[in-house]
Amino acid sequence: MADYRLTDEQLALKQMAHEFAVKEIRPVAMELDHNPDPAKSAYMPRLIEKAHKVGLHTMSLPEKYGGGGIEDLYTHCIVAEELSWGDRGFVGILLSATKITHLLMADELKPFACEENREKWLRAYCQDPTFLISTATTEPDSGSENNITTYNDPKGGYRTTAVRKGDEYILNGNKIFVSNIGWAKLNFVYARTDKTQGVQEGGASLFAVPIDAPGVSFGQVYDKIGYRLNLNRELILQDCRIPVSNRLGPESAGLKRLRRYMRGDTLINAASMVGLARAAYEATLEYAQIRIACGRPIAEHQTIGVKLLDMWTQINAARAYVLQAAWAVDAAWQGIDGEKIPVDPKLSQSASYYAHEMCVDVCRAAMEVHGGVGAMRDYPVEMYMRNAVCMLHSDGGVINKRVRLLPYLSAEAVSAGNGAGRR
Ligand SMILES: Cc1cc2nc3c(=O)[nH]c(=O)nc-3n(C[C@H](O)[C@H](O)[C@H](O)COP(=O)(O)OP(=O)(O)OC[C@H]3O[C@@H](n4cnc5c(N)ncnc54)[C@H](O)[C@@H]3O)c2cc1C
Repeated sequence: MADYRLTDEQLALKQMAHEFAVKEIRPVAMELDHNPDPAKSAYMPRLIEKAHKVGLHTMSLPEKYGGGGIEDLYTHCIVAEELSWGDRGFVGILLSATKITHLLMADELKPFACEENREKWLRAYCQDPTFLISTATTEPDSGSENNITTYNDPKGGYRTTAVRKGDEYILNGNKIFVSNIGWAKLNFVYARTDKTQGVQEGGASLFAVPIDAPGVSFGQVYDKIGYRLNLNRELILQDCRIPVSNRLGPESAGLKRLRRYMRGDTLINAASMVGLARAAYEATLEYAQIRIACGRPIAEHQTIGVKLLDMWTQINAARAYVLQAAWAVDAAWQGIDGEKIPVDPKLSQSASYYAHEMCVDVCRAAMEVHGGVGAMRDYPVEMYMRNAVCMLHSDGGVINKRVRLLPYLSAEAVSAGNGAGRR
């Protein structure tokens, strides 16, 4: 029989994350969000040092280097939901920690992913309360081109180049919209190393670029509609020099191969959308119980009651789907009783776009139930809606998640091949 109960460790982490959200994130989230200067609305350093103290900043890193040693995605999704209930933008700290762990612990990503660098960078991450990383992929002329797995035209994809000269690579190009840029002490940058191949199969390589590498500078800070506690900024690489040993994996490994080590981001983001929707739902339920219209609390009007019920059901459905997908990823990577269970490649992307769309629907309903005040900045639902809409465009975007899934659908229709549905 499947057991859906959380372990004692998961329950303790969930509670700790929730308390952190209540005590530290919620009291400052709206004030930070409303700051018109996007550089000042980002959570550094007000919150991240506090998160470091309680272990949230480093929970994903291996114990050997001073981290919390939490490896499974399922637990990360549970924690992500609670932190996002506090504020959607704050979950950036979990994404940063899981990414550096997955990349540096992958033996296949040598030369950079070696014991010497694990000692150096993972330990630095655990010791420095404000250590974050970034992953820089989007460029002014190429965003979706790198995310859509079926597009592999050598003319498309990264314009940022990395040219090998002796023991160094020289990087040139601009990366835009990148989370944590400027704060991140280590930037994982994708660049083109072979113009004759498309980036999916072989044209691209991944590099670790320290913040103080020669030729690194920062450009525009983006003034976003939501996710304002997380900083998004432009990364400029101008004759940026890094040692050859800062490459992750073989030269021109290609995105298809490199993407395997980015497991988890999609579902941590998806779980965060569940947390954001839950925040909107709870605020709405509370409001509906105290707001009197036509002689009674609006929650007692059937149309409002049904709306609240639908919101609650949508949130639970999305959570169940996200956790199912997280369980599948863990079963594939860590195995169950020594057996690695093949993962359905559609699950993560599908659960992710579902959770993102669900969250926008729930936030819209939340605004409607609030009536006029739903559009006012004094109430949090307006901020929740902006956060929900903003995230439709992150992590590759919800349309691109569907585009990635379509080839599976056609392949399955062909392999089913029983003529069902034909006249
Ligand atoms: C909050 C936030 C955080 C972000 N964080 C990061 C980060 O940390 N690092 C980073 O590198 N980037 C980051 N991004 C950038 C984000 O990943 C990109 O914006 C996204 O990949 C889309 O790229 P684009 O903006 O160039 O859209 P475009 O490529 O210009 O696409 C525009 C529209 O066309 C659609 N489209 C394009 N091609 C196709 C196709 N073949 N079939 C169907 N539809 C298509 C897209 O789905 C999209 O709707 C972030 C963005 C946001 C909003």
